[in-house]
Amino acid sequence: FGAEEWRCLGHQLVDWLADYQAGIGRWPVRSQVSPGYLRPLLPAAAPEQPQGLDAILSDVTQHILPGITHWQSPSFFAWFGANTSPPSQLAEMLCSALNVIGFSWISSPACTELEAICMDWLGQLLGLPPCFLSAGGGTGVIQSTASEATLVALLAAKARALAGRPPEDASKVVAYCSDQAHSSVKKACMVAGVQHLRVLPTHAAQQHTLQAAVLEAAVEADRAAGLLPCYVVATVGTTSSCAVDPIPAVGAAAQRLGLWLHVDAAWAGAYALLPELRHHFEGLEAADSLDTNPHKGLLTGFDCSCMWIKDASWARAALSLTPEYLRHAANDLDYKDLQVPLGRKMRSLKLWFVMRMYGAEGLRAYLRNRLECQRAFEALLAGEPRLRVAPGTAPAFGLVCFQLSRPDEAASEALLEAVNATGKVFLVHTKLDGVHTWRLALGSTNTQRCHVEAAWAVIQQALDNREQEQQQ
Ligand code: PLP
Repeated sequence: FGAEEWRCLGHQLVDWLADYQAGIGRWPVRSQVSPGYLRPLLPAAAPEQPQGLDAILSDVTQHILPGITHWQSPSFFAWFGANTSPPSQLAEMLCSALNVIGFSWISSPACTELEAICMDWLGQLLGLPPCFLSAGGGTGVIQSTASEATLVALLAAKARALAGRPPEDASKVVAYCSDQAHSSVKKACMVAGVQHLRVLPTHAAQQHTLQAAVLEAAVEADRAAGLLPCYVVATVGTTSSCAVDPIPAVGAAAQRLGLWLHVDAAWAGAYALLPELRHHFEGLEAADSLDTNPHKGLLTGFDCSCMWIKDASWARAALSLTPEYLRHAANDLDYKDLQVPLGRKMRSLKLWFVMRMYGAEGLRAYLRNRLECQRAFEALLAGEPRLRVAPGTAPAFGLVCFQLSRPDEAASEALLEAVNATGKVFLVHTKLDGVHTWRLALGSTNTQRCHVEAAWAVIQQALDNREQEQQQ
């Protein structure tokens, strides 16, 4: 592929991408194919002769797009969104063209240095305590996912807790989180060989948040049993309901008890950009590490999970490995020692493009628009007696959890399926206190109030249809 041919192909693909985004409304939001749909549509073997981009794009449109659940649709309200944007996609092209594998500083100095700078920029925008920024002795590192950040923090916590102890004490390490914490905490324990994970109960009366007193009691019981409590995960914006664990109280308890506190703000962290929501992030200075996913909430395509560590030496103690062929004069700057894999993309480029091409003002406006959409949905919900906001939840950070006013699991499941089967919207459910609960998660880049109103019309129609069926 010569430079001119490459240029033409690139233009052709960018045209295709722009057309896809403009015409995304013609696709069902949730893919409607059945398992195994693709194999019969494609040849059984790779082609012997080269094929052109026209033929490939035609197959993408005909065979691949029907099998895509359109996360970039403005009517995608499932899970938490994975928003992207033109600046992020442009940066991703640059990233894949440079294709550096920035495990060490010398493997591409700009890869390491731009990442450190971008993490300081974003940390400042989020109003993080200075101890997480490089000037205050902190370290920012871009992981692929929040799950990896939780694992890296656990490995660091374990290294700190076991320092100076006999190796067999590793079996005594205990980690803590609430029953609302993301499943990645359990996965991190499985991977890190932590045998004891205490999943602490939460209650609707406290909006499903982790209580410091419950944590303290659990830690004391484990200490009395001769175990080694070492790590707690608190969440700002839980996956089910966007609950906010009380960071000041949990942080004070963690410090008193000598636990490593990791704050998982995978989804909600972006909202620290808004001064009016900063209070949810108070007390972060007591944390040892925290993480948020711009690939969820901040217009940056997957993968970009931003982790800040107060004292990165424990993560390095857990993860440093420098064979002879990776030695160079500035090994202490290497990001390979703050993550599990060796290779790493230049993910900072997309964050850099996004922060520059939107500016802090543009990012704040984007988040505020989401909050306006959330309020619009709440207002519609308030006028509908057949539905209610889920008890023990408060709509926040673009998420509204709601239920049938008279809970009925089978009906709720069937209604949600009917809503999603229209192809006009896509929502998923969770369970809160055992009740089937719908989640409307606002996270798509182009969602506006009109899309929320359209979603509401689909929901109402499903409720009306059910009522009519019951009357027949
Ligand atoms: N933490 C929270 C609170 C989440 O909501 C999620 C995913 O939705 C995760 C962690 C996992 O994110 P990732 O896919 O980046 O590992």
